[in-house]
Amino acid sequence: MADSTHLRILITGGAGFIGSHLCDRFLAEGHRVIAMDNFITGKQENLQQHHRNGRFQLIEHDVSQFIRCEGHLDLVLHFASPASPIDYLRHPIQTLKVGSLGTHNALGLALAKKARFMLASTSEVYGEPEQHPQTEQYAGNVDPIGLRGVYDEAKRFAEALTMAYHRVHGLDTRIVRIFNTYGPRMRLDDGRVVPNFIGQALRAEALTIYGDGSQTRSFQYIDDLIEGIIRLLAVDFVEPVNIGSTQEICITDFAEIVNQLTDNPGGLHYERDRRAPGDPQQRRPDVSRAKELLQWSPTVGLHEGLMETIAHFEQKMNSSSYAGATER
Ligand code: NAD
Ligand code: UDP
Repeated sequence: MADSTHLRILITGGAGFIGSHLCDRFLAEGHRVIAMDNFITGKQENLQQHHRNGRFQLIEHDVSQFIRCEGHLDLVLHFASPASPIDYLRHPIQTLKVGSLGTHNALGLALAKKARFMLASTSEVYGEPEQHPQTEQYAGNVDPIGLRGVYDEAKRFAEALTMAYHRVHGLDTRIVRIFNTYGPRMRLDDGRVVPNFIGQALRAEALTIYGDGSQTRSFQYIDDLIEGIIRLLAVDFVEPVNIGSTQEICITDFAEIVNQLTDNPGGLHYERDRRAPGDPQQRRPDVSRAKELLQWSPTVGLHEGLMETIAHFEQKMNSSSYAGATER
């Protein structure tokens, strides 16, 4: 990709957290970008910086319906899907549809345009993992009828369909398995732990820990993910690749860091019954494949990434358009 300077790229879910950062990156590199989104969890505001850019187009469309797109495309990146547990539990059927029908439509479009395709998959395909850390070879431990099943199974189906398009039609495909990613442009009310904790800390409230706080996650800053995605697009490799931080931390320690960085006197508050069934106890990627294949490793430390994110939310909360913690 490095020497192809005029790519035309369609990004489903382009108005979301990750999608909008991808738009920024591709536009900064001089490519043409079409963001397609139905705004179920994303916001036009995430892309307002590009509205006057002649190389950028925003199309409102539900990609679970047939996708029409004029002209040639070099890349189709399928990132549309509710991603936070609160969002996909609020929209379970739309989540299943965008992972299944949406993926089918996006693959069909890529095939028709002879474009390279990338699926945004997730660490959730590993479910409640019995292997730690998780390698790409691990097949996962998912309860299809559990609450999280709507997201996990949709993504597992999406991976299967992507591989089938590759095997049957020879489509040039990529699958990125994304682990917990955070950064500016997450919605303060999306229910994920990073915006929840930062919002509470900036309001000088106690941080609410679901369960006993011993569950772990590995939090990756958005810039590291975007770099991993760009590198994966540039190599010829169709099997899934984990992209995530290897710095595993339990939720209590994570909360302490957020309180420290924000000087929050509010402390911690444990809500032991609030931890949803199926909430994984442990999560950390094995990123050996990404290291070897892409010469990629995370470079942004947790404190550094959190400071950027805190500054973003502070600015949002102080701006007049941002009343309270609810927005769309
Ligand atoms: P997000 O909710 O901010 O973005 C998703 C975007 O998809 C939103 O703009 C939403 O409006 C759009 N969308 C959803 N259904 C759609 C449909 N039917 N038609 C058109 N647009 C639709 O979430 P995100 O964190 O940016 O996640 C983006 C992708 O990355 C998702 O596919 C998600 O599963 C994957 N992912 C994210 C993480 C993470 O930590 N953020 C981890 C693993 C995987
Ligand atoms: N969590 C928490 N307090 C919150 C939000 C989440 O303790 O206000 C916990 C949640 O139970 C989970 C972890 O933080 O164990 C990460 O949750 P998140 O929703 O960010 O993403 P997940 O990795 O579970 O998809």
